[in-house]
Amino acid sequence: MCRHVGYLGPPVALDELLLRPSHSLLEQSWAPADMRRGGTVNVDGFGVGWYRSDRPEPGRYRACGPMWADENFAALAPDISSGALVGAVRSATKSTPVVRTACAPFQSGHWLFSHNGSVPGWPESLSELVEKLDTTRLLALDAPVDSAAVWALLLRRLDDGQSPADAVRDTLVEVVRAVPDARMNLLLSDGDLLIATTWTHALSVCRTDNAVIVASEPFGVPAVARGAPPDTTGEPHWQAVPDGYLVVADRVETSLVPLPEIELRDS
Ligand code: GLN
Repeated sequence: MCRHVGYLGPPVALDELLLRPSHSLLEQSWAPADMRRGGTVNVDGFGVGWYRSDRPEPGRYRACGPMWADENFAALAPDISSGALVGAVRSATKSTPVVRTACAPFQSGHWLFSHNGSVPGWPESLSELVEKLDTTRLLALDAPVDSAAVWALLLRRLDDGQSPADAVRDTLVEVVRAVPDARMNLLLSDGDLLIATTWTHALSVCRTDNAVIVASEPFGVPAVARGAPPDTTGEPHWQAVPDGYLVVADRVETSLVPLPEIELRDS
């Protein structure tokens, strides 16, 4: 399954966070360590969205194909710094198109969204839920891919004014109720919050005294985000998030809350 990263902390250059660390997102595109069910590499595209101090909407770069093959991104990445970002590398789910617009992060206004996982049987399996969306939302889907449909369901809740953590939790619950074998590691940010879920896939959190990183797989924390040495080893500590949790992190604290038991429709 795809791999994603969310970051809040001091401004960091995109290459320092995503390309240069040991086991960076770049390395995870060709040698992920913990893909669990399905997928071997993440070479079907990638994307990064980064927040800017002078406007609420993030900048965004997405491309089709392996991250390592994009010379433009490698050239731009050292020149773009941000204190809040979401990055992802994609392993396309079977029967979905390999196109730039299917790559996370998806964006609307100040929101960025990424999905590690799949909704088996899509689009039929989601048709009842998706039918409740108005036509404008359906026409605005970035690509015919399960993750874009999940994003549309979540965005409707956000636009209706639900709190981001509740909207993420409730979207996961409604999708898993409809499709019990859906794999739903979600990641949402507005530049001040990172909200993530674990639902059948790996996720770890690293909090230092000046940054927080939520990522599918731990990687080398850039120097700027290490803060003061946390312990005698001097190595920032990654905590694996157990399955079935909602993670809510801001610049000060992280909370891990179990997701509700989900009553499955067909069981
Ligand atoms: N289903 C999504 C896609 O096809 C995410 C895939 C993944 O997590 N591997 O893009």
